[in-house]
Parts: sequence; C-alpha cells; structure tokens
Amino acid sequence: MIKASAILQNVIDTLFPARCAACREPVGKHGALCSACWQNIHFIADPVCCKCGLPFEYHIGISALCGRCMEHKPVYTQARAVLKYDETSKGQVLAFKYHDKTQLAPVFGEWLARIAGDYATKAQAIIPVPLHYSRLMRRRYNQAALLAHALGKHINLPVLPDTLQRTRKTPPQSGLSRRQRIDNMRAAFQVTPSKRALLKGKCVILVDDVMTTGATLDACSRALHDAGVPDVYVLTIARTVIAD
Ligand SMILES: [Zn+2]
Ligand SMILES: [Zn+2]
Repeated sequence: MIKASAILQNVIDTLFPARCAACREPVGKHGALCSACWQNIHFIADPVCCKCGLPFEYHIGISALCGRCMEHKPVYTQARAVLKYDETSKGQVLAFKYHDKTQLAPVFGEWLARIAGDYATKAQAIIPVPLHYSRLMRRRYNQAALLAHALGKHINLPVLPDTLQRTRKTPPQSGLSRRQRIDNMRAAFQVTPSKRALLKGKCVILVDDVMTTGATLDACSRALHDAGVPDVYVLTIARTVIAD
C-alpha cells in the first residue's frame, strides 16, 4: 500500500518541481544542488590546522598549528569549516544571510553534520552566534540560528538559541583589521544569566555562517568559558583562507 505521505510528496513534486538550492535550476531532488553549482564548490579537506581548521598545502602532522594560532591561541577548542570562502560560496552565504535564501539551510545543515565528526558525541548542545536584536529586526531571522537548527536535526542535539546575548551593538566587522576586530568584539557577548546554570560543565558546538579572523567566535567562546563551558567546538559553513 502506498502511504499517504508518499502520495502527498508526489503531488508536491508535481506542483513544485525541485530546483537547485543555490541557483534555482531544475534538479532531480528537493534540497539538492545542480551539477554546475557542485563543480564550483571548494570543500575544505585535510590537512588543516588542528586548532582553527585553516587548510594546509602539505601534511605536517595531525597536531600542526598555523602561524596565526601559534601566535595567538584561539579561545575555542577547535574550529572546522565546510567550504573555502571564495566567489562561489560567498554568493551562497550572502544570499542565505541577507536575501531570504533560507532553502539552503537543509543543505548547509547536512554539510555541517558531515564535518561535525566526534563533536556530535562530545558536545551536549548547539549554540548559534547571536545577532544584535536591532539587526535581527531588520533581517527577520538569524542565519546562524537556522544553521544550528538544521545541524541539530542531523546530529540529534538540542539547540539553545537564546543562550548567548550581545551585550552591545558592535560596528560591522568588514573592513577592520584582525586587531581591530578583536578589540571590537571584546566583551560584546555574555551568557544569558538565567542560562548559566544550565550550561555549567557542558561542552557545546558553536555555529556561525562564516569565520574570518575568528574574533567573534573567540569572544563568544570566552563568554561560554566564563559560564563554565569546558570545550567549545566551532562549526561554520565557510572560512576565509587568505589571511586578511
Ligand atoms: Zn545550481
Ligand atoms: Zn590555525
């Protein structure tokens, strides 16, 4: 017997044919990418810096650190990203962030789950990087929270969206040097006081869309450490590869 849900899915597929989640070209399956988009995507693969996930050209050992991490050790335990932040991924990430292309969330969630590896068993919760409420009002959704929920579905961990708060509105980070970004972000986050007890002693996965210098993620990790979180594992969709 054919299930009612299968019939309904057939009706949906006929009425709304599947389109590429990035460019809207017709594809065989809902939530998939077309072959042209696949070909232009650059996934990050080993070898990478064991701390921040920066790709290396050569294998120099599994505990090798990049120059930046040696100079200034990040506060988070480890960070990994799915894609290099290049022209292709930039278009997708910006469309997801600013232009309501939220249909990319399930694809991104699946990719984040794939790179999560043992973070899925080491962590007890997923926390998205928060937007300041005034930006949230303008954009209507927090892209990091959408990613966190999409990831949570795959790795069966609870998402705690209101755990981190921005304590003040920070100027946009683009155009700032690494040093300026760190200063800009210092003490910009805190754990919501009512959530501190809940977090104490728990390891978490911190989710954002893009990692550039890592200043935002470090500031969030510091706030989480202050609330008693021993390990923060960072997952992002993309990361810059050339130091800025
Ligand atoms: Zn496409
Ligand atoms: Zn590094």
